[in-house]
Amino acid sequence: MLNRPRVVVVGGGFAGLRVLRRLKDLAEITLVESRMTSLAKPALPEVAMEGKPVDHVRFPLAHTVRRSGAELVTGRVERIDTDRRYVVLHDGTRVPYDYLVVAAGAVKDYAAIAGFSSYGFSVCDDEQAPKLFNALQGFTGGPVVVGSAPSRWGSRVVVPRLLAACEGPVGEVAFMLAHDFARRGIGAPVTVFSPGQVFFDDVGDKVHAEVGPLLDEAHITVTTGRDVVEIGPDHVAFADGSTLDSALAIVIPPYAAPAFIAESGLGDEAGFMPVDKAMRHLDAPRVLGAGDATALSMPKLGHIAVHQADIASAAIRSEVTGLGDVPPYEPEIFCIMNRGGAEATLILSDYLYGGRRDIAYSGPLARLLKWSFDEYDFHTRGHLPPDRMQQVLEWVLRETKG
Ligand SMILES: Cc1cc2nc3c(=O)[nH]c(=O)nc-3n(C[C@H](O)[C@H](O)[C@H](O)COP(=O)(O)OP(=O)(O)OC[C@H]3O[C@@H](n4cnc5c(N)ncnc54)[C@H](O)[C@@H]3O)c2cc1C
Repeated sequence: MLNRPRVVVVGGGFAGLRVLRRLKDLAEITLVESRMTSLAKPALPEVAMEGKPVDHVRFPLAHTVRRSGAELVTGRVERIDTDRRYVVLHDGTRVPYDYLVVAAGAVKDYAAIAGFSSYGFSVCDDEQAPKLFNALQGFTGGPVVVGSAPSRWGSRVVVPRLLAACEGPVGEVAFMLAHDFARRGIGAPVTVFSPGQVFFDDVGDKVHAEVGPLLDEAHITVTTGRDVVEIGPDHVAFADGSTLDSALAIVIPPYAAPAFIAESGLGDEAGFMPVDKAMRHLDAPRVLGAGDATALSMPKLGHIAVHQADIASAAIRSEVTGLGDVPPYEPEIFCIMNRGGAEATLILSDYLYGGRRDIAYSGPLARLLKWSFDEYDFHTRGHLPPDRMQQVLEWVLRETKG
């Protein structure tokens, strides 16, 4: 048994910070992160559409990491040497590990869409969201197009095959825009496009039965099977040659894996990390993964990233101490879609993984829950609400929506 093992965590997002908290009593932990702040991406649509200050959706990492008893190394990981067990940073620094947890998220590949840099908008990071907010202030009307590009996935890990990495933000943006345009009296029909045959193909019939009428009510048109290839000044073009007129195009770009994974020989065909259900790399002992960077994470959701971080932490603890069980991998879709004003829709579904839960709950209570979740995360500097809160929530949903 290792006395206090050195655990290096790459990435201070949802998954990485969770590992810090889970293992702080067990290990000497170093967090390597290229940013100075942790960014809560689920709150970015509110930056773009409601003018929430961007500094309210990110917080400095130094304090959080210190409170977890860990060391923060600010730098970009460029390579992992699995034989000698260290990571190499952009400046050549080597950070040794006994266990490595790769929680580096996914890269949003805006450049994969021709014309995006000139005419496209997005909500996926803290540069894009404020840029969209500024554009919306001067927007006077015209057709608005919102959708996801398909991503490329590998085949080493068996997961549900989804074309879009995560369509929740697309729905959220469309609903929030429709609400805002109606409030401001702007004539701007909103069209959602999806690369899949079904918009929101990661949830089941009950959720569709709830969300479909809400889309109709908000006059949002949905078009499917559209693989975006280009954004022009007045249109969005798709691989089949079709186009949609647009005065404003907002796109979730393809997701790619951080390059250092493939460059270290640790990626699948698409560069994501192939891990088993205890979050261990299929080929590299002592390397674990959690969150969007793994091939197992499908769709790419913070809720799944945190579940995976719990499993990766338990797997390390169990190996080091010989004690404790590794929880089973039981992913589920859990997200709250802001629909503008006081409205939101909460979705809880394990339909994609063969389960029977498929619940959507709409109303101001869902909006209040999203607000509480985001505020809790921000004011506690990256703590998530206690598990007990989700258990209570699930009980309420079962009793009311069954
Ligand atoms: C607009 C939007 C809305 C969303 N809404 C929801 C929602 O409502 N509910 C939900 O569950 N999920 C939502 N998601 C998805 C969720 O944000 C992600 O699934 C989640 O952030 C993944 O967590 P992670 O820890 O794997 O990665 P991230 O949160 O992306 O963190 C990865 C970290 O690794 C760092 N990093 C990357 N490469 C390196 C490197 N080479 N060296 C050092 N550091 C590196 C990055 O800087 C980053 O801080 C949303 C996503 C978007 C874009």
